[in-house]
Amino acid sequence: MKVCRQEIYYPLLVIFTISLMLWQQFGMDITLTYPVNQHVDATLLNDDINGGASIGTISTQNDSLSLRCKTVSSNTFPFCSMLIPLASKQSQYADLSKFDTLNIDLTTVDLKRDTVLIYLLNHEQNLPNGVDKISHTRANIQAINPTIGRAQYRLALNQFYVPSWWVFAKPFNIDTAAKLDNVEYLQIATGDSRSLKDLEIALHAFSFSGKWINAKDLYFLLLSLWIASIVVHAIYLAGKMHSKYITSKSKAEELNKINSFLSIERDKYKTMAKHDPLTKLLNRAGLSGSLSKLMSEFSHSSQAASLIMFDIDHFKLINDQHGHDTGDQVLISISQKVSEMIRDQDVFARWGGEEFVIVCPNTQLQGACVLAENVRAQIANSQLIHQGQVTSSFGVAQLNSANIDTWFKRADEALYKAKTAGRNRVELS
Ligand code: GH3
Ligand code: MG
Ligand code: MG
Repeated sequence: MKVCRQEIYYPLLVIFTISLMLWQQFGMDITLTYPVNQHVDATLLNDDINGGASIGTISTQNDSLSLRCKTVSSNTFPFCSMLIPLASKQSQYADLSKFDTLNIDLTTVDLKRDTVLIYLLNHEQNLPNGVDKISHTRANIQAINPTIGRAQYRLALNQFYVPSWWVFAKPFNIDTAAKLDNVEYLQIATGDSRSLKDLEIALHAFSFSGKWINAKDLYFLLLSLWIASIVVHAIYLAGKMHSKYITSKSKAEELNKINSFLSIERDKYKTMAKHDPLTKLLNRAGLSGSLSKLMSEFSHSSQAASLIMFDIDHFKLINDQHGHDTGDQVLISISQKVSEMIRDQDVFARWGGEEFVIVCPNTQLQGACVLAENVRAQIANSQLIHQGQVTSSFGVAQLNSANIDTWFKRADEALYKAKTAGRNRVELS
C-alpha cells in the first residue's frame, strides 16, 4: 500500500468512508425479480400429503397466479399451498443471503380472519446419508396478516424462522437456524386458523431486494481499512523517525569529528602563528603577549625588566662556507642551548634572521648582563661547526620607560656597539 502524504490521505479516507456509508444507505441496491405469468411452473401442495382432503387449484392469469382453496376437515391440519420455483438460468436454487427483503404483491379474497404463510424452502446440502428427500428441504417461514384486497408486503429475510413442526418431523438432530443460501421454492400457503375456509390468494409479483454490500460487512471493511491505515502510518512514522534519528546521529558524529579536527588545527595554526618553524622559538608575534604584560607591570609598579638582544657574528660567512643547512643547524643548536640556560620566567624569541632576544622580567641590568655573558661564553665554547667557532654579539638594556620601541632601540644600539667593538662581546645600554 502506498503511503500518501498524511495531510491528503486522511481527509480522503474520511470522504471515502462517508461516501461509502451514504451510498450503502441510499444506493447500492440489487434486486432479483421473478416474473409471475403463465410460464411459471407453479405446483400445488395440499394437505393430501398428510392424508387430508382439502381441494386446491392453481390458475394463471396474465399477470398473476391464483391459489383457490377449499379446506376440508380431516385428521390432519387442512391447508393448500402453491410452490413457485426460484430456479434461474444459472442454478436450480437461489442464493438469497445477499438480499434482505422479500417484496410480495398479493390479493386475498374471502379471507376471514386468517394469516397467509410465506415459506422459503431451502435445499439442504450437508445432511447425513440415508435421509429422505423431503428432509432435504428446510422450511423457513414467516406469517403475514394480510389486509383484504391487494397489497404490497415487505418481509425482512432475517425475520424468517424454522417452524418447530419441521424440526420435530426430522428423524435426527438438526440445527434450527433459518437458511436462505440455496432456496428452491417460494411457498404461499393458507394460514394457521383452524376454521374451514374457502378463499383465494393471488400472487401478482414478488422480488428480493438488498444491497451489494450489507451494512455489517461494509462497516467491518471500513474499520479494517482504518486500522490498516493507522498501523501502516504508524510503521511509516516510526521508520521515518528512526531514519531521522540515524541521520541526525551521524550528522552529530560528523560534526564532532570536524570540531575536534578543527580544534586540533586551530591549536596548530595558533602555535604556528606565534612560533618560528625552524627553531620552535617564539617569533615576534609570540613575544607580544609577554611584552604587553611587562609594559603594564612597569606602568603600574615600575617593575624592573631587561632585554638581551644578540646576533650571530658573520653568519653569512657560515652559510657560505658550510652550506645553508649547517647555518640552519647552528640556529637550532643555539636556540636549544640558550633555552636550557634561561629561567622559567625569561622569554626567549627569534627576532629575525640570526638575531634573538631574551626578555627577562624582574631583572636589573646587571643580572641580565651576567646571563648575556654566560650565553655568549656558552655559544663561543660550543662546537657548532666543523673546524670553526661560532660567536655572537650582545646588547643589553633595562626597561626605563613605558616605551617598547625605545627599549628595543637601546638594546639594538648596544648590540651594534658590540659588533663594531670587535664582536663576541656584551655591551650595555
Ligand atoms: P654580522 O656579523 O655583521 O652580523 O654579519 P652577518 O653575516 O651575520 O650579517 P648579515 O646581515 O650580513 O648576514 C646574515 C645572514 O644570515 C644572511 C642570511 O642569509 C642569513 N640567514 C638569515 N636567516 C637564516 C636562516 O634561517 N637560515 C640560514 N641558514 N641563514 C639565514
Ligand atoms: Mg643580523
Ligand atoms: Mg649576524
